[in-house]
Amino acid sequence: MDVTSLNERAPACADKYRNSTSKWTVAAVEELYALPFNDLIYRAQAIHRDHFDANAVQLSTLLSIKTGGCPEDCGYCPQAARYHTDVDNEALMSVGEVVAAARCAREKGATRFCMGAAWRGPKQRDLERVIDMVKAVRGLGMETCATLGMLKPGQAQQLKAAGLDYYNHNIDTAPEFYGEIIRTRTQDDRLGTLDQVREAGLHVCCGGIVGMGESRRTRAGLIAQLANMDPYPESVPINNLVQVEGTPLHGTEPLDPFEFVRTIACARITMPRAVVRLSAGRQDMSEGIQALCFLAGANSIFYGEKLLTTGNPEVEKDAALFARLGLRPMESENAGSNR
Ligand code: SF4
Repeated sequence: MDVTSLNERAPACADKYRNSTSKWTVAAVEELYALPFNDLIYRAQAIHRDHFDANAVQLSTLLSIKTGGCPEDCGYCPQAARYHTDVDNEALMSVGEVVAAARCAREKGATRFCMGAAWRGPKQRDLERVIDMVKAVRGLGMETCATLGMLKPGQAQQLKAAGLDYYNHNIDTAPEFYGEIIRTRTQDDRLGTLDQVREAGLHVCCGGIVGMGESRRTRAGLIAQLANMDPYPESVPINNLVQVEGTPLHGTEPLDPFEFVRTIACARITMPRAVVRLSAGRQDMSEGIQALCFLAGANSIFYGEKLLTTGNPEVEKDAALFARLGLRPMESENAGSNR
């Protein structure tokens, strides 16, 4: 379909923001959420086509390099030591183990390898091992991403010098809801690390979680906060809460799947050049809802059988879904620029 004609026919809502430097208000994002579903998806798809190949999806593999025993109290997370879940406290993996996993992910088609550690922040001696991992994974020709918690001054620069491409640090939810979910740190602590990551010249991967019992206004607040970052993140993971027994959020009323699709669409419209990642919660989503998420502008997925400690659709199932939808993996150089 001709992109120009598609844009000309797209609904007018929020046009005033598209080429403007003005900030997104929470009310403006709520207006997007409130559009008729078809209008919202049409708008998001039109903007998606302005900036990306609409049929290409970036594939990342996420490996938990240090699982469990985390001192933080994130209400959704089975890795917090204080919650009684079946996640055990494991030691930091060896460089060799991580390289073997990265090689395997590359063989299955992943172009980016994300390494996650359940820490409040890395100790210097642990960071040094992660730096060796980053160098080795880079040596395989893959993009690298790390999520290690809050960084102390100088640590982001060390990761950058090792060749790290992206640092993931989610703001989780809107500021007014943050204290309901996490009490061992503030959202300002997170923003401080994000500043350091930017200053070091790393690409920012930053998103949040929905389905935690928040209101639509809170979801709109999360999207507005991400979109108003200057610049907004190159990579925006949108997670749907995976409920794990033993965590405080287990038993939360599940989010309407169409509301999740709306959230993807709002992220796409407000952050047109970001790679929007359909992240945690995909295993519980029907293929139909996943297809709607791609239509709404999601263009990255975690690929592989495990997502930190919770399940993720198997590689073969994803490959079959891609074939049915005519999707193909995105070349890494096309991914993630918002400038
Ligand atoms: S989300 Fe991260 S910081 Fe929070 S408890 Fe889990 S591992 Fe720790």
